[in-house]
Amino acid sequence: MTTAKQGKKIVIIGLDGATWNVFDDSLLKSCMPNFWRLKHKGFSGVLRSTEPPITPAAWTTCITGCSPGKHGIIGWHKYDHGRDKLSMSSAADCAVPNMWRELSEQGYKVVSINVPWTYPCSPVNGAIIAGYGCPGPASDFTYPARLKEQLLSEIPDYDIVASWDKSVGYDINGLNFNLPRVERSFEHRVQAARLVSSQINWDIMMVQFHDTDLLCHHIWPYLDKKTRNDYPDQRDRLAVTFTKLDAAIGELLKLAQKKDALVAVVSDHGLCRKTAKLKPNVLLCRWRYLRPKNGLSRLTERFVRRIVSRSKRRTRGALKQPQEFEFDWAGSKAMMMTMAVNGHLFLNVKGRQPNGKVGPSGEYSRIIKELSELFGKVLNPVTGQPVFAKVGSPQKIYGLNAVKQSRFGDLVLVPQSGIEMSLSHSGKDRAVEMMGDDSLAGAHCYEGIYLFCGKAIRASDGPVTDIVNVAPTIYAALGAKLPNYMDGTVLDDIFEKKVNITYQTGRIVTVDGDSNRKALSSNEEAEVNRRLSALGYVE
Ligand SMILES: [Zn+2]
Repeated sequence: MTTAKQGKKIVIIGLDGATWNVFDDSLLKSCMPNFWRLKHKGFSGVLRSTEPPITPAAWTTCITGCSPGKHGIIGWHKYDHGRDKLSMSSAADCAVPNMWRELSEQGYKVVSINVPWTYPCSPVNGAIIAGYGCPGPASDFTYPARLKEQLLSEIPDYDIVASWDKSVGYDINGLNFNLPRVERSFEHRVQAARLVSSQINWDIMMVQFHDTDLLCHHIWPYLDKKTRNDYPDQRDRLAVTFTKLDAAIGELLKLAQKKDALVAVVSDHGLCRKTAKLKPNVLLCRWRYLRPKNGLSRLTERFVRRIVSRSKRRTRGALKQPQEFEFDWAGSKAMMMTMAVNGHLFLNVKGRQPNGKVGPSGEYSRIIKELSELFGKVLNPVTGQPVFAKVGSPQKIYGLNAVKQSRFGDLVLVPQSGIEMSLSHSGKDRAVEMMGDDSLAGAHCYEGIYLFCGKAIRASDGPVTDIVNVAPTIYAALGAKLPNYMDGTVLDDIFEKKVNITYQTGRIVTVDGDSNRKALSSNEEAEVNRRLSALGYVE
């Protein structure tokens, strides 16, 4: 362990799903004076998300400096062929150390608050309060473990994200009901940061706000700079929420100022208007690769489920397994089984899965070729453009190695921006459903935000850059040694003077996962899945 620290300290503020289309100059000037000052004095631009532009993949890239193809966290779920089973992914699947562990080894004091996919927590030289992807405050979601007690005694209602009551709707009354919860959630982050800062003399502290993503998912047109003036009541109510977010940012800036720390603001991805819903499994049924369950098998299944639920209650929130989808998976050749913005389509291969139907060599290649062509020809009925931006193998789309790619499908479907996919199939569904003009839904897109501010940082508009470059840039600002396995590079344009970049030598990290950390238990998995479903992230 080295303690040679020459650079600056740094506070990173993570705004999930933030885009400059919401946080535009007009919003910042009118109700976010702290954010506006940072933007005015700092170096900022568009931060391009990962492929796929989804929370677990992108935040893991942000805190490892590695692409999803290397760190291996692609989405919420992963699939095991041999057991024909889906399970939740977690930080234990990350194949490289994240910067909390890496910088700990270099002697830095680190604090990570609410960053998604940091559960199960690793031991670090500092503190971790896990964010999205952890089973919530009932779990061991802090490192050190005693921090949980302190946190919950100071903030008994602490949670990682506000729960939205969707039943009250999204008119002004609905907002008046749900937005105070969101505002309280911002305060949780500040209270946690203050608590940890009173105990730990940190060199780097990251605080993530998850609720900005949910706002965009639920009520996009009220937020988008292009449409929010059409909804003056909602816009004005949301101004209160943004003022409170800015106050939270202001409190974090005070903690930064005490240490003369640099400040970075980053998102994991952006959001845009959701224009259509796409159901590839409907197409697979139409093309006869996938068989819907017939009436008799549905009835039998319902009967069996009732018996099972009487004898042994199914864990609340348990992941829906391939056999429980609306399809006869054992009798089918292909199905889209998981979704992480992109669709992950699996073939049911003889010898690989228990009820394989597809020959492993010739037939496999033929079906992949056929499906790639068929999906490539699916058009948006309104624009006449292809609905998929790309269709290809996980290796081609994500750069995954052969072992890992098996978890994320045989074919990856990458939709055009604004199109959200669905696994479901009710029997009468259309494959592409356009959203009505009155839809409020937002969908993930690649274009997020970055901002660096502080002494020795230039004040300028910056170029579009990739999220994979955030971690190396933070290492450079801290004066830390860059690990040899990072995919990103330092954004040296942000610094007024050329920074001296040093690299770690003599240490090789193999890309093999972290054997010290256990995967989630089935109860933890069910709780994470229940939380994701409640917020509408998974079906
Ligand atoms: Zn996100």
